[in-house]
Amino acid sequence: MKLSAVKQSFLETLNSEYDGEEVLSFFYCLVEEFLSEKRFILHIKPDFEIDEKQVFKFEKALGDLKSHLPIQYILGYTEFMSLRFKVNSSVLIPRPETEDLIYYLDSCLKKREVYRILDIGTGSGCIGISLKYKVPRAQVSLMDVSKEALKTAEENAKMNDLEVELLHSDVLNTTSLNNSYDLIVSNPPYIRNLEKEVMRPNVLNHEPHLALFVSDEDPLLFYRKIAMLARDHLNLGGMLCFEINEAFGEETVALLDELEYKQIELINDRFGKNRIVSAIR
Ligand code: GLN
Repeated sequence: MKLSAVKQSFLETLNSEYDGEEVLSFFYCLVEEFLSEKRFILHIKPDFEIDEKQVFKFEKALGDLKSHLPIQYILGYTEFMSLRFKVNSSVLIPRPETEDLIYYLDSCLKKREVYRILDIGTGSGCIGISLKYKVPRAQVSLMDVSKEALKTAEENAKMNDLEVELLHSDVLNTTSLNNSYDLIVSNPPYIRNLEKEVMRPNVLNHEPHLALFVSDEDPLLFYRKIAMLARDHLNLGGMLCFEINEAFGEETVALLDELEYKQIELINDRFGKNRIVSAIR
């Protein structure tokens, strides 16, 4: 079959779900992945033919995209902080705003001695692993309640040649930790069920709800639990840092203030939304 015909069928089949530019960007990613060809192959060889097996792969991907499966899950990986991370349905796809959290932490870590870092609810491991990459001397521990997520995080650390410790634990049922840390960081579930209505189907229908949702009644549940745990397990002067729901900036600051954290900061992401809260013990 001609690759140009596959391209045409992508544009026609997906045109009700995505805009044309987006469809083309999916198609070109898949050309690179499935054919190991450059994305401009059709400019050089307009009659480029693909074999049956390859056609099958494109058809499968087309069906998946039609049902809003994220392209990152189809490819099986994504880029975050210029590192490659495996992703699958048991971990969230790393977001650009989470890169802003890393940029922020990187600037903070340049100014302080950090030896031990704990990333709670690590998922793919993108936060802890990027920090290990930025601060190689630090010992980084990745915690998650999901064994599948932790396995993915482990693969990601190996793939990037970085050594981390893995902790299988449910933070909501954790009363103490084996170590004390200089930085505890977390991007816990923070989307309320009532926000489901405005969520896109690629997120709502395909990303792990365990990693996304928290009850409408207690949206700061994870923040309170982690902040309390961190009071006992951060070294004096150590830093606690969260990614937050943009709707709860002030509330998260108030929570940390109540728990007697110092130098509390609320920082915007690249989209101008309240996204990061940090504090010092
Ligand atoms: N930022 C993610 C989203 O918008 C949610 C991450 C989280 O719940 N921790 O889907």
